[in-house]
Amino acid sequence: MSLKFECPHCDARLSAEPELYHTEIDCPTCAHTFVVPTPEDLGHPAEEKIKFLCPGCGRKLSATEAQFGTEMPCPFTDCEKPVIVPRPEWKPVPTTRLKKNPGS
Ligand SMILES: [Zn+2]
Ligand SMILES: [Zn+2]
Repeated sequence: MSLKFECPHCDARLSAEPELYHTEIDCPTCAHTFVVPTPEDLGHPAEEKIKFLCPGCGRKLSATEAQFGTEMPCPFTDCEKPVIVPRPEWKPVPTTRLKKNPGS
């Protein structure tokens, strides 16, 4: 099962196969180099969260996996407009970005 995480530099949503854990990769979106975390590093592997903007008031909201694709009211009491939670897209990190030395 691939791990879903956010790039520490550009917040791009990425997914990586276990073979990439703790390896250095270049972010496919912003090209910064960073080390892929493990589920233990993230602390809450079971819960996927998404951040998105309320189309009514433009403020940043967050939702958990169970709410993806569902409608919920904006939690801000001066807005409370119904918002459809978007389904996030996770960009897989290609394993070809692994800086592997084939050796000889
Ligand atoms: Zn990035
Ligand atoms: Zn709102």
